[in-house]
Amino acid sequence: MPGYSRFLSERASLIQPSPLSSIISKINEIAKKGIKVISFAAGDPDPNVLPREELSKISQEILHDIPSSVLYTPSIGLEELREELSKFISRYDFTVSSDELILTGGSTVAIDLLARILVDSGDIVILENPSYINTLLAFRQLGADLIGVNIDENGMNVEELEKTLKNLGEKLNRVKFIYTIPTCQNPAGVTMSLERRKNLLEIATKYDLLILEDTAYNYLYFGEHTLPTLKSMDKEGRVIATGTLSKIMGTGFRIGWLAAPNDLRKLIIAEKQQIEFCPPTISQYLAIEFLKRRIYERSIEKAKRVYQEKLRVMLGLLKDRISEARFIEPKGGMFIMLELPNIDGEKFSNDLLENKAVATIPAKKFHVQGGENRIRLNFSRPSIQEIEEGIMRFAEYYRNYEKRDGE
Ligand SMILES: *Cc1c(COP(=O)(O)O)cnc(C)c1O
Repeated sequence: MPGYSRFLSERASLIQPSPLSSIISKINEIAKKGIKVISFAAGDPDPNVLPREELSKISQEILHDIPSSVLYTPSIGLEELREELSKFISRYDFTVSSDELILTGGSTVAIDLLARILVDSGDIVILENPSYINTLLAFRQLGADLIGVNIDENGMNVEELEKTLKNLGEKLNRVKFIYTIPTCQNPAGVTMSLERRKNLLEIATKYDLLILEDTAYNYLYFGEHTLPTLKSMDKEGRVIATGTLSKIMGTGFRIGWLAAPNDLRKLIIAEKQQIEFCPPTISQYLAIEFLKRRIYERSIEKAKRVYQEKLRVMLGLLKDRISEARFIEPKGGMFIMLELPNIDGEKFSNDLLENKAVATIPAKKFHVQGGENRIRLNFSRPSIQEIEEGIMRFAEYYRNYEKRDGE
C-alpha cells in the first residue's frame, strides 16, 4: 500500500468532514439496536407535508412522455425551468429574468461555485456567527479566513460589523463578501429586521463590498408579509442571491439557483460545466410542473401551518420545562437554537443521544467563535407526538445533568 498522504494537494489539508454526518451515523447505530430515536437533528422538511402524491403522478408522465428527461440537459438549467423560476422568484423574493439564473444541484452547489470564483486562500469572508455549517466548511476549504458577526433577535449586529470592518485596516481589501441568511436563519432561526437590512446595504456601499444573500427559508416565514430581500433593495448590483426549492418541494430533488450579475455569471457557468455538468434532469422537469401548476402554493401554505403548530408546541414545552434555556423565538423556518447555561453542548448532545435516544445538533461548529453551550433543534421533521415526548426526555435529562455537573 502506498502512503497516500504524499499525493494529497495542499488544499486537501483544509477539508473537514461535516459534523452532521457523524451524528447521523451515530443515530443509525443506535436505531440498529432496535431503539427508537427521536430526532431533532434533521435539516429536512416533513415528508408528509410535501406534495408526494402529485409529484409521483407527474414523474410517471414525464418519464413516459419526455425522452430527454433521462438525458443530459444544459449546464445552466432547462430554459423552461429558468422561466418558471424567474416568475416564482419575482413573486416571492426579487425581480429577476430567466437569463440571470443559473440552475444548480441545490444551493449548496451555488454557494460553492460562487466562492470558487471569488475566494483565494487568505481572503476574508464575513458571515453571521453562527451560520450554515456547509457554507462555513465550503469557504474554509478554499482557504478563506472567516469573520463571524454576532446576531441578536434582529439578525446580524450591523454595528459590530462596521466596527469589525474599521478595525481591519489594510486587510479590508481582502474581504470578498458578506454571506447572510436574512430570513429564518439556519441554525438560529432569527430574521433580520428591515432596518438592519437597510443598514447592511449601506455598509456594503460604504466599504465597497459584495453580499451573498441566501434565501433558503424565505417561503417558510410565518407572517403575512415577508420582509423585502436585500437583493430587491439593492440598486448597485452588490447583492448576489442564492435560493432553493429544497425546503418546500423536497431536499432530495436538488434544485437550487444563483442569481449573479452578468460579468460573474459567465465565469460561474464555465466553472460549473466541469463540476456539475447538469443538475438532475428529472428533478428539473418535476420542478417545472411544481411551479407551473402552482403546486407550491398549497405546499407552502400547508408547510407553514404545520410547522407553526409544531413550533408552538415545542416553544410551550421549552418554556415550561427548561426555564434556564435561552433562545430567540423563530418567525418561521425549521430551527430554533437553545443556549443552555453551564453546559458543554457537544458533550450534552452526545450524552442525551446515548442515554435518552434524543438526537440534537451541537451548534459550536456552526460558529466562528463561541457557541459552546448552544444546541440546534429542528421542529419541521418530527411529529407533534415526537416533539412532546422528545422535549420531555430532554428536559428531564437536562435537570439531572445540571445537578450531576454541579456536584
Ligand atoms: C438547507 C439550506 C441550504 C441548501 O440546501 P440545498 O438543498 O443544497 O439547496 C442553503 N442554505 C441554508 C441556510 C440552508 O439551511
